[in-house]
Amino acid sequence: MFSVRSAYRLGIESALSALSTGQSSSAPNGDRQVWNIIWKANVPQKLRIFAWKAVTNSLDVRTNLNRRITSVVPVSVTCGCGKEDIHHALVSCTLDVALRHGMRDWWNLPAESAFRDIGDEWFLDLLINVAAVDRSRIIFLLWRVWHHRNNIVHGDGKASVAASVPYLKNYFETFISCTRPVLDVKGKSAFLQVPQPDPEGPLISKWAAPAEHSVKANVDAGWDAKTGRGGLGVVIRDHHGRVILSEWKHIPYCSSVEEAEILACLEGMKHLSNVPCDKGIVESDCLRVAYLHLKSGPCQ
Ligand SMILES: [Zn+2]
Repeated sequence: MFSVRSAYRLGIESALSALSTGQSSSAPNGDRQVWNIIWKANVPQKLRIFAWKAVTNSLDVRTNLNRRITSVVPVSVTCGCGKEDIHHALVSCTLDVALRHGMRDWWNLPAESAFRDIGDEWFLDLLINVAAVDRSRIIFLLWRVWHHRNNIVHGDGKASVAASVPYLKNYFETFISCTRPVLDVKGKSAFLQVPQPDPEGPLISKWAAPAEHSVKANVDAGWDAKTGRGGLGVVIRDHHGRVILSEWKHIPYCSSVEEAEILACLEGMKHLSNVPCDKGIVESDCLRVAYLHLKSGPCQ
């Protein structure tokens, strides 16, 4: 039985074995570090395991089942037409296209041509050739597509694209905002909180709730130096941790990651001004932005 645990073990062992023997992975560019594309992707661990299984052709799609059990017809159960290999199951089946198009209203995903089937390495090739934030989104998206497919094959078939679009959007934004370390700026009514990573502590720390009657906007931004394009995210929560508002926005052009972070802070402040509360906090992880802001004094 090929379980999640065995997939994980297999992944780790293969990566370690490639590193220790000096052999390259099967990646097109022969770079052993290529597996970090998956194991260091900014996504939950269960999604990394899913991506690993997809890249190594280890998902239980019909063509793979057919190799083991000849009575299994290798045709897609979802659409009934087309051989169900990994690419068909995750990218080209009707439902996949629908969800991908739905997410394009919110996410700046790569062009459709980037998702084409170029052979066994299509998924790895896709992940290698995009910015880190897009890589995370693609893994989130294909993981959800796989959930849909399994819901049809093994579940009640009621998972809908209309419900999956906001689900994915919120899951991604919440995950991104929760994987930022947090600093409490004691004794100051600083509007902007700047997390300072503890060198001894874990890389990822938990989100800290604001005080009662206060709300907190976690903001984040990504920027691609090659294209000048970026994205910003805002998640506003109350002191119970309930999400009041979440937003992810494309930045058509900006000149630096700091500029993108500033735009994210401004977006957070804009939204906070419409939320009734005693105190609104914008929390960012960009030190330089915070420095500029604190130099000019606290603002409420
Ligand atoms: Zn299909």
